[in-house]
Amino acid sequence: MLQINNLHATVADKPILKGLSLSINAGEIHAIMGPNGAGKSTLTYTLGGRPGYEVTDGEVTLDGQDLLALDPHERAAAGLFLGFQYPVEIPGVSNVQFLREALNAQRKLRGEAPLSGGEFLKVARAQADAMGMDMDMLKRPVNVGFSGGEKKRNEMVQMGILDPKLAILDETDSGLDIDALRVVGDGINRIMRKPDKAVLLITHYQRLLDYVKPDFVHVLAGGRIVRSGGPELALALEEHGYAEIAA
Ligand code: ADP
Ligand code: MG
Ligand code: MG
Repeated sequence: MLQINNLHATVADKPILKGLSLSINAGEIHAIMGPNGAGKSTLTYTLGGRPGYEVTDGEVTLDGQDLLALDPHERAAAGLFLGFQYPVEIPGVSNVQFLREALNAQRKLRGEAPLSGGEFLKVARAQADAMGMDMDMLKRPVNVGFSGGEKKRNEMVQMGILDPKLAILDETDSGLDIDALRVVGDGINRIMRKPDKAVLLITHYQRLLDYVKPDFVHVLAGGRIVRSGGPELALALEEHGYAEIAA
């Protein structure tokens, strides 16, 4: 599904990704772990097409399509979803407006008919219910005044509504207490653990991986994947630290 080959990327003319290769098949959950400053968020933003993140070499394909040739909104329509460590607040725009616009814009690019207000609310209500989120929260401005846990829960509602093929979740577990971690983990499993979907979980800590069992674990250091293995690699990292494992 996702094929990253020898990816090099710079931020503010500084090389950050230095030959990163990674292959993710449909039905797989991959975790990337790595020390602070390794380039994890840079990878996320580069794949999302964020301005300022310049690809200087390498290729990325999503289902065979050249991802890097697409604008960010086209990448989203192609099935890519990014979840952020610090979800942004958007005063003046309600969750419902935001998500209906986003979903219908994606459907349009895919040649699908837009959902009516009623149809959209049905989808939104189902996803909010599944995440234990009150519909009133979906009518509030995006993330404004939400607690850290509520923002992450909201990200899962967004993901459920947009129903992506590939979700890249960048430290989605940061700042979550154990209960919120379980709720978010359950959300990832419910929405994304399917034969035709895949997840790239970026995390510092093993604990999210107790809830969302990865098929593969990779260590990102110095802008490249330096180790790959199964879930046991995450446990080894937790025990021994990055310095020893990534060396
Ligand atoms: P991680 O998410 O693994 O902690 P990041 O991808 O956020 O790492 O950062 C990787 C490196 O890129 C760090 O050295 C960071 O200082 C640098 N970096 C990130 N964003 C910028 C920026 N806008 N300008 C300059 N350097 C940046
Ligand atoms: Mg960081
Ligand atoms: Mg980061």
